[in-house]
Amino acid sequence: MAHRITLIPGDGIGPELIEATRRVLEGTGVAFDWDIVDAGAGVMDKYGTPLPDAVLNSIRANGVALKGPITTPVGTGFRSVNVAIRKELDLYANLRPARSMEGIPVCHPDVDIVVVRENTEGLYAGIEHDVIPDQAAESIRIITRHGTERIVRFAFEYARANNRRLVTAVHKANILKATDGLFLKVAREVAQDYPDIEFNDRIVDNMSMQLVQRPQEYDVLACPNLFGDILSDLCSGLVGGLGVVPGANFGRDLAVFEPVHGSAPKYAGQDKANPTATILSGVLMLRHLGEKAAADRVEGAVRAVIAAGARVTYDLKPRRDDPSAVGTQEMADAIVEAMG
Ligand code: NAD
Repeated sequence: MAHRITLIPGDGIGPELIEATRRVLEGTGVAFDWDIVDAGAGVMDKYGTPLPDAVLNSIRANGVALKGPITTPVGTGFRSVNVAIRKELDLYANLRPARSMEGIPVCHPDVDIVVVRENTEGLYAGIEHDVIPDQAAESIRIITRHGTERIVRFAFEYARANNRRLVTAVHKANILKATDGLFLKVAREVAQDYPDIEFNDRIVDNMSMQLVQRPQEYDVLACPNLFGDILSDLCSGLVGGLGVVPGANFGRDLAVFEPVHGSAPKYAGQDKANPTATILSGVLMLRHLGEKAAADRVEGAVRAVIAAGARVTYDLKPRRDDPSAVGTQEMADAIVEAMG
């Protein structure tokens, strides 16, 4: 039977990356029945909202979605559709694995870090207001026992299921004594239930420095929302940039797969952006659907194309103006061909 999947093309570079990914996933022979729904600025006029109910209802009905990035206006305008989807559907765990790949020039060739980011609270709870307009504003950072317990438990369960050795809780409990003090306390309590997995903690500023200098010492990072958002971009940088790092958002029964990167509006419609992060998000989706053989095939093909270094996008070339760089769709073609 075909897997019925909600497909959200997104905007900016989203639609072309989703198209490339769809072709690669279909190239595995796995059958998909795509339920295509639109969100973002482009649907505002028609529905009066960037996130129509039809999008949320489709994800609820199908249980699984593949999503392209969606632009959020900076400073003003509507709130993030991406954050709203995660909150509305209680997709509390954001998984962002960053792993080195042969063929990408980086400082450390052996990075294998999984950022587990709390996705519904922290500073992204979105509770903020002007105290005195134009003079002072305030954001409220929410950390709860419930939210912390489930994200740290998710990190340990992921570690156990994927033969990982260490979970590191990332926090700023020295300064944010109430919020991150609670996060760290609950993380330590949850760790007691997993004696087979090592546990330690790091203050987020020190964590950032250590990830740059000695990323090999880290494995699974359990982070409050904002720290996870920032550190996952840092980890992307360690393995070749935002173009290559996939992501997944998990709730109790629902899952939405999307790259870590955003909509890169400056490259929209140019067939220029790297499809790898979206294709590898599709690999995470295949694994979630129980399609392990297909997932292994796609991942192997992506790695082979990148290792060969010929038919890759500009960001994976030693120089960004390398005239031999190929476009989004040709890189996807190369991956389909490498699947054999
Ligand atoms: P961005 O991730 O879009 O781009 C940051 C940098 O990475 C840019 O230089 C861009 O060109 C490069 N880049 C990103 N994806 C790439 C790819 N696939 N291939 C090659 N290079 C790539 O981040 P930004 O510029 O901070 O944000 C742009 C918009 O995206 C904003 O509106 C932001 O809110 C939104 N955004 C959406 C999501 C999401 O949908 N989940 C995530 C992050 C940002």
